[in-house]
Amino acid sequence: MNKYQESLDFLCNHAMEYIKDFDCEEYDCGDYYPLDEETLNANKSVLQELIDRATPVKINEETATAKFIDDRPTTVMIYRCPKCGGRVHPFDGDLYCRHCGQALDWRDDQ
Ligand SMILES: [Zn+2]
Repeated sequence: MNKYQESLDFLCNHAMEYIKDFDCEEYDCGDYYPLDEETLNANKSVLQELIDRATPVKINEETATAKFIDDRPTTVMIYRCPKCGGRVHPFDGDLYCRHCGQALDWRDDQ
């Protein structure tokens, strides 16, 4: 888990403690209304999208046959973003998908 995920989880878990313990009958809050779990989760999911996009994900590899100058069929590797399926290029140094912004993990740790 990365530091952004830890921070978001900490804040949401901390907020949930107050939500569960808050006694609306006992305290007069005026115009202030206590946060409810549904609102918290809706806002958390927006920030979760950013964290997920910034967290590198393994690229998808596939092979295809192409013909080059000598017209002989040649097997080539095609790399795709696991999030949107858009083509990404290792030789261009794509650390992020140019189609959707997903952070990419090119490490070959098989
Ligand atoms: Zn993408």
